[in-house]
Amino acid sequence: MDKIYAVMKSFFPWITVLDIWLIIFGILIVVFVMAFYVYNDAKVRGSKSLNWFIATILLGGVIPFIFYLMIRSPYTLDEIREEETKKEVLDLQKRYYELMIDGVLAKCPVCGEEVKNDYMYCPHCFTQLKKRCSNCGALVDKDAKICPYCGHIFEEKEKE
Ligand SMILES: [Zn+2]
Ligand SMILES: [Zn+2]
Repeated sequence: MDKIYAVMKSFFPWITVLDIWLIIFGILIVVFVMAFYVYNDAKVRGSKSLNWFIATILLGGVIPFIFYLMIRSPYTLDEIREEETKKEVLDLQKRYYELMIDGVLAKCPVCGEEVKNDYMYCPHCFTQLKKRCSNCGALVDKDAKICPYCGHIFEEKEKE
């Protein structure tokens, strides 16, 4: 400590021992702040945060800090999770549209086989799935009481 003081004194004649302690203290605080930043950041990004924390302190803060910023994962865990969720939603949407285009959206309520939306009868077990509106000709649910396309009200006896 005396040696450091002597060297510093030759450069800055006005310096006191207290000043040097304050400088050292300040540097330590900066190193710790950087180490904590690295620790938290590495944790959020799923890296080995404790290793990074120790390395940052042992290696004096600045260099490992800069090194860390250069090699850290560009995405936080939350961002990665969000990205995965987005992909899942997109996949589901894609599947949904494929089904729409294919027309294979429904399952036969009786035999469970896949049936297309515009099937009037299940081709596997002959169950009637739809009926044709006698007014507008649209395919509607077998049990519908009103045609959702034209508003025609089906009489109970009307079975087509
Ligand atoms: Zn069926
Ligand atoms: Zn109709």
